[in-house]
Amino acid sequence: MLARVWSASIIGIDAVKVGVEVDVSGGLPGIVVLGFPHPAVQESRERVKATLKNAGFAFPMRKIVINLTPADLRKEGPAFNLPISLGILSASELVKADLLGDYLFLGEVSLDGSLRPVAGVLPIAAAATKMGISGLVVPTDNAQEAAVVEGLNVYAFNNVADVANFLNNSASFQAVQLDNSSGNMQATPIHHQMTDLRDVKGQAHPRRALEIAATGGHNLIFFGPPGSGKTMLARRLPGILPPLEFSEALEVTRIYSVAGFLKNRGSLVRDRPFRSPHHSASGPSLVGGGSYPHPGEISTSHLGVLFLDELTEFKRDVLEFLRQPLEDGLVTISRTRQSLMFPAQFTLVASTNRCPCGYYGDTIQQCTCSPRHREQYWARLSGPLMVRIDLQVAVNRLKPEEITQQPTGEDSGSVRERVQIARVRAQKRFKTEVNLRCNAQMQSLHIYKWCQLDDASRNLLEAAIRKLGLSARASDRILKVARTIADLAGDEDIKPQYVAEAIQYRTIDRMQ
Ligand SMILES: [Zn+2]
Repeated sequence: MLARVWSASIIGIDAVKVGVEVDVSGGLPGIVVLGFPHPAVQESRERVKATLKNAGFAFPMRKIVINLTPADLRKEGPAFNLPISLGILSASELVKADLLGDYLFLGEVSLDGSLRPVAGVLPIAAAATKMGISGLVVPTDNAQEAAVVEGLNVYAFNNVADVANFLNNSASFQAVQLDNSSGNMQATPIHHQMTDLRDVKGQAHPRRALEIAATGGHNLIFFGPPGSGKTMLARRLPGILPPLEFSEALEVTRIYSVAGFLKNRGSLVRDRPFRSPHHSASGPSLVGGGSYPHPGEISTSHLGVLFLDELTEFKRDVLEFLRQPLEDGLVTISRTRQSLMFPAQFTLVASTNRCPCGYYGDTIQQCTCSPRHREQYWARLSGPLMVRIDLQVAVNRLKPEEITQQPTGEDSGSVRERVQIARVRAQKRFKTEVNLRCNAQMQSLHIYKWCQLDDASRNLLEAAIRKLGLSARASDRILKVARTIADLAGDEDIKPQYVAEAIQYRTIDRMQ
């Protein structure tokens, strides 16, 4: 007898409906899986057999043919365990087939019959209604993630036997409700409460740079001696970014879902991402990749912060991978069968020492590097990546009198309010533009339109270009930062003092 169960697979961050056809017929007992399955799906044959036996079902000792459609789509992951199990049960007439056409089934099964969460449930739930599906059956640990999507009936279960009961007697089961008790969208996420600017002593200049970075989405690098607090400052950037809007939270959650970060973890991601990969990270782990492409760090930090601590320790060729995504806000991964795109609109924050020993320019410890070594070190920092970093900011060690003081700075909440007001100002300007969220994303035509300079400002910028040998790209970036500073000041016009401050942030260019 033939049964058909619906499931889905993920390509990039999009969902594709997959049909699982199961035929149980006479012949020598055995299981065959057809339809371009990943080796892990092949493996599920034995697993499903053990699961069904342990869950108390009589496993049919007949010939079982499993066909996954469409045939040309590669099917990956353990999410097909559940639909395959149900297909076998249905084809053996152990569960009713009435509901199989209306629901989409996802879930990994353990040998004891229990269901384990799988990655990618949110994008599948979001696409389900378009696929003509009215409901979703998932493991309990994926329930809240799926329930985020409105207008979809989500049923969640702990084991295969419960799903079988549901199919035989659906009326006695209730759909999952979204649990909103974890706070509303405006609440400050707990993680950000732990890293508040209120705990930072002194450092007025880096604090100002963080505020500008948060407002305009500008990339930022902190450089200074070890122990000056570069990392501590960088970690406070997500906390002064405005809360994610619902649509943004969905975008981030989608990526987290596909990356497998959501398992056992509630529903929407409300925190701005903060990712801090180790400097030994490979190119694919940073930008995404693999034979079956997965999102990398630049995509899991989408709409948040990618922090590269000790930038010079990263391999140069790995950093080269960042160039295009920094420009485009997305990354394209090409494979022989297809090209995939992952979103990657992140703010890059980096930190580095000023020289190999770290103490050049320090007030306490003497630098032991030769001028040549220092030059080589700076040469490594310069180039294409540094041009794309708008705010280059020195972080100095605190003075003894600052160390002994109580911190007196503003808290993150107050800074965030200013950031939000300035962002709203920018968004009003961008209201007719597609996909333009902040000043850092402006292209040449936008700069021409919204970063007009008066004569005094233009003279200032021209002098800086001449003196520092700045490229056109660097000059554009100065204009964008000046626009952000004007937004923070509540000013429609870019004034000379804003341009002057923006030029200040090209510290590394000035040190060449
Ligand atoms: Zn040194």
